[in-house]
Amino acid sequence: MCGIVGYIGKREALPILMDGLKRLEYRGYDSAGISVFSGGKVVTERAVGKVAELENKINGKKISGCIGIAHTRWATHGKPTEKNAHPHCDCQKNIFLVHNGIIENYKELKEDLEKAGHKFSSETDTEIVAHLIEEYEKQVPLKEAVWRTLAHISGTYGLAIVDQKNPGKIIIARNGSPLVLGVMEDGYIIASDIAPIVCYTDRVIYLDDGEMAELTDESHKITNFKRKKVEKEISKIDWSVEEAEKKGYPHFMLKEITEQPEAVENSIRGRLVAPEGIAKLGGLRDVAEKTRHLKRIVVVSCGTSYYAGLVGKYMLEEYAGIRTDVEHASEFRYRKPLLDENTAVVAISQSGETADTLAAIREAKNKGALTLGIVNVVGSTIARETDAGVYNHAGPEIGVASTKAFTSQLSILALLTLFLGRQREMSLVTGKRIAEELAEIPHLMRRILKKANDIKMIAEKYSEYSNFLYLGRKYNYPIAMEGALKIKEISYVHAEGYPFGEMKHGPIALIDKNFPTMAIATSDSVYEKTLSGIQEVKARSGKVIAIATKGDREIQKMVDDVIYIPKTLEMLTPLLSVIPLQLFAYYCAVSKGLDVDKPRNLAKSVTVE
Ligand code: GLU
Repeated sequence: MCGIVGYIGKREALPILMDGLKRLEYRGYDSAGISVFSGGKVVTERAVGKVAELENKINGKKISGCIGIAHTRWATHGKPTEKNAHPHCDCQKNIFLVHNGIIENYKELKEDLEKAGHKFSSETDTEIVAHLIEEYEKQVPLKEAVWRTLAHISGTYGLAIVDQKNPGKIIIARNGSPLVLGVMEDGYIIASDIAPIVCYTDRVIYLDDGEMAELTDESHKITNFKRKKVEKEISKIDWSVEEAEKKGYPHFMLKEITEQPEAVENSIRGRLVAPEGIAKLGGLRDVAEKTRHLKRIVVVSCGTSYYAGLVGKYMLEEYAGIRTDVEHASEFRYRKPLLDENTAVVAISQSGETADTLAAIREAKNKGALTLGIVNVVGSTIARETDAGVYNHAGPEIGVASTKAFTSQLSILALLTLFLGRQREMSLVTGKRIAEELAEIPHLMRRILKKANDIKMIAEKYSEYSNFLYLGRKYNYPIAMEGALKIKEISYVHAEGYPFGEMKHGPIALIDKNFPTMAIATSDSVYEKTLSGIQEVKARSGKVIAIATKGDREIQKMVDDVIYIPKTLEMLTPLLSVIPLQLFAYYCAVSKGLDVDKPRNLAKSVTVE
């Protein structure tokens, strides 16, 4: 959450910063701001709301210079006001900085600084960092002042700092919030992720926690917080600029829903060996002997990735025979998780920067468990900190509501099931069956996407309802929850996702003609039971929209509307049944005129706890 961009080099900084902010806007849009060295002074502009507001504000102003920092905020401390917008500065208005994260001990530090005469102009935790640097800079040079400040603050941060008294440099530091340094021909661009960087260079340095860099227009010096020089290797980015753009779609979300067949193709490419019924996972090669003896898997994840984990549990237990538990990463680290050397903890995170998931993985490592990652962003923190893992290769996901990352995660979990299953009892025949059906999934997804217009019409019909119940059984129970999450996130409609069988234990009380049910009723091992559930809803005058398997004519007589999906292996149904639910939520939001890619209060890549 929150996006940081910075530039130092030979070009005009402002256009680079503004373009970068737009590309990072999915990380937060409470306010935006920039500080640019212009005419020997740091000029700062800030505005409440989206980047476009800032753009309007600075339109026509002459801000010219080659060094600058910028921020798009997702507020944690202090309301989304202009005063609380970044960049923040010290009393003398020399030090300007942007911050992603939370300074946990800001209250004590603020009190001390106020006693020493500092005047604060915002309610943020961030501002204390500028004042603390100011305080130390009275005695020591800037870099040392930053080091001393970092030694005093606790919490998480990605920081970019400029100082009017020290022109010609930017200092950046990282602890727990991502920062990537793009190495250009004629300077450097820094950002919270690679989205703003890919347009300028494919050469990047991923800063690690506890590292700081001093940048000039032609050099970078990286040290750790103990002031020791660190040699870092330059990595190559494999995402293209086009991939990170809308390509004519009205929203990133629709583009990403539509990209799911390719995303899954990319996730399974070169990994499925259908004739042998196996999955080759290069990222797990080094730990293959360990995975052979695993007795238990614990998946840690958040939000949509959590639901992917739940589908994974059903797959892994049924086909690989490994006990699997799925935990909300935010809970895992605060309770007493029981882990041993035969347990693998699998982190699922699109961004690879999710703070809660990262913390859970660190906790698991401390306890001696093998840690694995299913991560989309190459080189991200979770990818680097886990012992081994599998990349999604789904391409950049920009829409705040996750779609293609989810189905890609499901396809990786299916691969993992094959991989682990074939290390155990899974037969060649079963392995082949799963592999063949998985290879077909992208093709089946395309068939559903062709029917997007029908789903749009159904969504428009139901878009005025303010409550929904989403129900599914077995593999589709997590999909019911994911469907409900989607409509909550982008349409602001209250929805409950439940296992079908649980309905009668409570939620059924809610049902009446104004409380429609989305029932996932695919022709699988629990179909008959699901039909009984639908009858129970109908008996209470509830409206029902069903997601059913193509060819099922019976269900049409029972429900109000049906969306058909093609038949596949039961364990892979979620990869298909979720698509109508994504489109339903999308078109509901569009018909309400909502900003689908920037839902209120939310942001992507949740780097705060
Ligand atoms: N804690 C800071 C604030 O509320 C930064 C939040 C963020 O990382 O988005 O301004």
